[in-house]
Amino acid sequence: MNLMDHTLVLFTNNDHKVHEIKTMLALSEIPIVSYRDVFRDPVEVLEDGDTFEENAIKKVNALPDHPNYIYLAEDSGIEVDHLDGAPGIYSARYAGPNATREDMCYKLLQACYGAGNRDAQYQAVMALRFPDRTIETFTGIVRGSLAHEMIGDGGFGYDPIFIPEDYDVTFAQMTEADKNELSHRFHALSQVKDFLIHQK
Ligand code: IMP
Repeated sequence: MNLMDHTLVLFTNNDHKVHEIKTMLALSEIPIVSYRDVFRDPVEVLEDGDTFEENAIKKVNALPDHPNYIYLAEDSGIEVDHLDGAPGIYSARYAGPNATREDMCYKLLQACYGAGNRDAQYQAVMALRFPDRTIETFTGIVRGSLAHEMIGDGGFGYDPIFIPEDYDVTFAQMTEADKNELSHRFHALSQVKDFLIHQK
């Protein structure tokens, strides 16, 4: 397969993620666009899989076959050891559909109040679908622990309460560039990049 003849189409409605993925992949061999650039209508996917991988695969499969498009979708979330991996795939909806990031962080802090073990991880699973319908998935994980309160204004979601391993600041206290060098999405995307570069 010649990468040059293809376009990498990202399945996300989130402009921030499009920017982040374009920056991290930085592939000169292949144009990278959002699916909203090539299809007019938004596509909604019911994220009812039991795993990040199932949800990521559902997303790439929601787009129509096209001979030149390689689709990339992701599903991600935070998993807390004390809660046996919750909220996991429910991370975005953990505090209800219209919750702010404060609501989400407070709910998680509350659920872990007094917990001896505050270990947690972010996980991202990326799925690639090729024109012949072959699917490949890639998992990225960053381990860390939960802070006792929200600290920092950067990032999004649970970043103000997540302290990555070997650091003493939360993801929300880091610059975007620093977070992007160690995040779960970075680890998954590095594998995506390697895989695409080695496509023949
Ligand atoms: P998705 O957009 O369906 O993959 O939902 C991912 C959810 O997991 C987000 O809404 C956040 O709550 C959480 N999440 C995933 N990655 C991150 C991250 O890098 N920082 C903060 N929260 C994240």
